[in-house]
Amino acid sequence: MAVQEPAAPPARRGAAVPGAPAADGPARQGDGTTPLVRVEGLKKYFPITRGLFARTVAHVRAVDGVSLEIDPGETFGLVGESGCGKSTLARLILRLIPPTAGRIWFDGQDLLALPPAAMRRMRRQMQIIFQDPFGSLNPRFTVADIIGEPLRVHGMRRREERERRVVELMELVGLNPAWRHRFPHQFSGGQRQRIGIARAIALNPRFVVADEAVSSLDVSVQAQILNLLADLQERLGLTYLFIAHGLNVVRHVSTRVGVMYLGQLVEVAPVDELFGHPAHPYTAALLSAVPVPHPRRRRERIVLQGDVPSPANPPAGCRFHPRCPFAQPRCREEPPVLRPVAPGHAVACHFPLE
Ligand code: SF4
Repeated sequence: MAVQEPAAPPARRGAAVPGAPAADGPARQGDGTTPLVRVEGLKKYFPITRGLFARTVAHVRAVDGVSLEIDPGETFGLVGESGCGKSTLARLILRLIPPTAGRIWFDGQDLLALPPAAMRRMRRQMQIIFQDPFGSLNPRFTVADIIGEPLRVHGMRRREERERRVVELMELVGLNPAWRHRFPHQFSGGQRQRIGIARAIALNPRFVVADEAVSSLDVSVQAQILNLLADLQERLGLTYLFIAHGLNVVRHVSTRVGVMYLGQLVEVAPVDELFGHPAHPYTAALLSAVPVPHPRRRRERIVLQGDVPSPANPPAGCRFHPRCPFAQPRCREEPPVLRPVAPGHAVACHFPLE
């Protein structure tokens, strides 16, 4: 696809920052806190096979060289269009799927070096809330079975003990414990997501991935679930990786936000900095689509051209260049790496926006 040459490039911040750390090092706040989660150079390539003998003919590069850190107690929001690799990244961090390359640390421990038994113990500390509260709950199980299952799997043998914990968890997420013998279809969408949350926190995890956890809910119910997640974070000291495809949702819950495009992180910043000064043209385009809640204020809309390229054959140079309104010849040849443009703010662009 042809690159659009801009008539007059917009004002830019300097592409190189004097004294910048390793250009593609983990994206973080840099405040000296020991991260709870740290990933470096993480990749996940899924093979595309063909023929009788399933010969590998290409790879889908779902996650392609992501490095980041998440501090204890923070909510790291991860946004990007469908298929950009957000959920795959989360599953890699949780070790639900093996990486093609890269490293993952949790609380300082190298997860890829842990023996299976130690990894099983570690899993108690890392849980996930799924997008679809309807599909993620077994319709033949009662709520007590669903919430109590991880307790049973991880060794809470006595039924009365599990029952006590289920009651406690239902109260914690705002559900009436008297309903514990009901089935999922007897609950509303918001209530089912509360069941999913109760199940996720049953083992007292430290890290929870909320994977599009409010996307399928009505706006008013979304707000209730977001408030519940914030409340639980404060009470239980949780750390969240909060995945969403829209920036408007992550704004209200995140400490920092990472923006993904075609398997790579293109920008990471504290939430107010990202919303106030987006430096990557893709982030600016996503932000320009978020409605401003003021009758006389408007954002200039940046309309992206073309579709997202295939992750099996990503464009050379900057992966965003075929759709970027500000692309220059350099963008077609040289892949940009994450570089700091302000404290805690890193962007992968040769010509960051001011
Ligand atoms: Fe656009 Fe990429 Fe070039 Fe930055 S590096 S101006 S995002 S094409």
